[in-house]
Amino acid sequence: MADFDDLIAANREFAADFDLGGFDGVAHAGVAIVTCMDSRIDPLRMLGLHHGDAKIFRNPGGRVTSAALEALVLGVHLLGVKRILVIPHTRCAMALNTEQELRERVGESAGQDATWQSFHVVEDQIAALQEDVRRIRSHPLIPDAVKIGGFVYHVDTGLIEQKF
Ligand SMILES: [Zn+2]
Repeated sequence: MADFDDLIAANREFAADFDLGGFDGVAHAGVAIVTCMDSRIDPLRMLGLHHGDAKIFRNPGGRVTSAALEALVLGVHLLGVKRILVIPHTRCAMALNTEQELRERVGESAGQDATWQSFHVVEDQIAALQEDVRRIRSHPLIPDAVKIGGFVYHVDTGLIEQKF
């Protein structure tokens, strides 16, 4: 039971001066972000946002999957989202490896066959981003009034660059 002791202790400290109770789940800045799970990305801070400001959906590569679309539809209709940013990043493992390479690396780590596991690698990051923005734009439940931007986050400078 000790596996999470450090994190639970940190949580006790967090809760000791907890001031976020009674907060609603609306995106107060009207922002939703789809980005990568990469630990180099601090989605709120990099956009000058704070707790409660945004809905954030993360996955490997920051792809607009059907689960991401589900989240965005909920965000737009029920949670105050008016602007959506799709933000993959430079030096992303999902764009630097082939599916085969990832399967081999995971297989080595796991000590067993991983060729059956798919990872949805990205061959052309900018083309994938364009397609992802298009997927949101063409979704029948995402109104035209919602602003959608496709960006790349540069992990070495902290800058976002708008592509679409
Ligand atoms: Zn990544």
